[in-house]
Amino acid sequence: MIVDAHTHVFPPAVRDRREALLASEPSFAALYSRPEAKLATAGEVLASMDQAGVDRSVICNFAWDDAGLIDETNEYILAAAAKSGGRLLPFVSLSLTGASRHGGVDAEEAVGRRAEDPRTVVRGLAAAGARGIGELRPVSSGYNLADSDEADLLSWAAAAYDLALLFHVSEPVGHAYAGKQGLPIEQLYAFAQQAAGATIIAAHWGGGLPFYALMPEVREALSNTWFDTAASHLLYDAAIYRHAVDIVGAGKILWASDFPLTAQDAALRRLREAGLHDDEFTAIAGGNAAALFGL
Ligand SMILES: [Zn+2]
Repeated sequence: MIVDAHTHVFPPAVRDRREALLASEPSFAALYSRPEAKLATAGEVLASMDQAGVDRSVICNFAWDDAGLIDETNEYILAAAAKSGGRLLPFVSLSLTGASRHGGVDAEEAVGRRAEDPRTVVRGLAAAGARGIGELRPVSSGYNLADSDEADLLSWAAAAYDLALLFHVSEPVGHAYAGKQGLPIEQLYAFAQQAAGATIIAAHWGGGLPFYALMPEVREALSNTWFDTAASHLLYDAAIYRHAVDIVGAGKILWASDFPLTAQDAALRRLREAGLHDDEFTAIAGGNAAALFGL
């Protein structure tokens, strides 16, 4: 089974409003101001899967600021997944703004005072078929994943409803690119230590965090964390596949394209050409994701 652990979809109605959203949503503008940055619909992901021979794809939502947009896009993603015959695994967005307004109290107390209890929202999303939350961008969304009420809420949601958390993780060094700033690796590491009951997917090879798994305590702390290969060729030499497998093990790596940023067939070809053993390829290309999501 071939599973793409990280693609992005947008409702056609959102794509039609692209220009207006560039003005009102700073995080969206950071990624999609360039006209060549494509927005794909769920139908386009399915067509790409047919063409590339991909069995299942995670379809991610975006870290919107506006709560209405979050609802609109979640609805689209959940509906698209529901009618895909299991081929699309929906990752939703969650309105986290507000949790930190009540600084000093724990997440449960804070959310209890809000108009809409996010715990009720999470319950509804899980009941509607959500398999994860993401792609999360704590820095652009204005909270510290290492220590915040937002982080507590995510940790709770992940554990309570078996929702994987997919984070855009930033390399601390190297070239700048649209949306690079998402989450410093030290914040992800702190969260991974605290959120023991969560399943964490650290996108883009976790910003290089796998290399620190040569430190025994880091390896131990990352037992709940998987690393995806989204957009790998835009960031790293192809040698990263071999090195990462040798450090964290093939069982901790999820093949992902970041479609439509990268074509799925090309991303899959790069994995095939990475010189991995058959069992390593099988695990990374879909076996690990199938186990994580119970496919
Ligand atoms: Zn990303």
